[in-house]
Order: sequence, then structure tokens, then C-alpha cells
Amino acid sequence: MPAPRLNRSKAAALERLLNMLYKPAELAEELGVSHDTVYRSYIPAGAPVVLDAGGKVWINGRQFAQWARDYLTTTRRGKSKPPMPAGHAYCMRCNRVVMVQSPKMRPHSRRQNVVQLSGTCPECGGKIHRFIKSS
Ligand SMILES: [Zn+2]
Repeated sequence: MPAPRLNRSKAAALERLLNMLYKPAELAEELGVSHDTVYRSYIPAGAPVVLDAGGKVWINGRQFAQWARDYLTTTRRGKSKPPMPAGHAYCMRCNRVVMVQSPKMRPHSRRQNVVQLSGTCPECGGKIHRFIKSS
């Protein structure tokens, strides 16, 4: 799958995201993309997510914006940056990509071909999660 793109007008919309938790559909509306784009592109590409007790996905606007600037935005010539390396995920506390420690893979509760990578952050010991497209 090609890396998801975020063009410059969408990148400007990142600035408007607040430091709060968004549902994927709300985030999609803020960015002016379809919510499928969030589920099918951004989250499998490693967007930082929070899982609540019921397994629902929440996205912090600030942290998503920072991640998106690093991993989604293209250069002026439309080239995208390299994807997040395997075994890495975004730590919500450290605000950067780290190597996942003691990683566990399990299938997504509702979506086929998506696995959930969970583990701990080597820097702060916090739990980190990432969804990865498996095929
Ligand atoms: Zn951390």
C-alpha cells in the first residue's frame, strides 16, 4: 500500500487540531477527509491512538498533528517521507516514535487484515499501541 499523503492544505488544517481526544470521524471532519481515510490509511500507518476500556479508538489532536507532520506531509514536489519503521510506534507521553518493547500482536477486534501491536515505551515505560495493516 502506498504511504498515505497529506497535501499542504490538509497540513494547514493540522494547526487547528486541539489538545483533546477526537473520535476518528470527528478528526476526519476537521481535516476534510473521509473517515475511511482515517481508519484505512492513517491508523494503519501508525497514527498515535488511545484505546479506552471498551476498545474504542480515540485520537489526540495535538499528537496526531505532530505525527502527521512527521510522517504524512509531502514535500513541495509531492514526495512522501519514509514510512514508520517496523516495530516502532508513537509514544503519547514522549511525543515521538520509539522502538516498541515486549511487543504483542493481536488481531483487531472488528477489522480484518489489521493487527494491533501493543507494548511498552523504552523511555517512559508507558503503554503504546499501533495498528498495522497485515496484508
Ligand atoms: Zn514514552
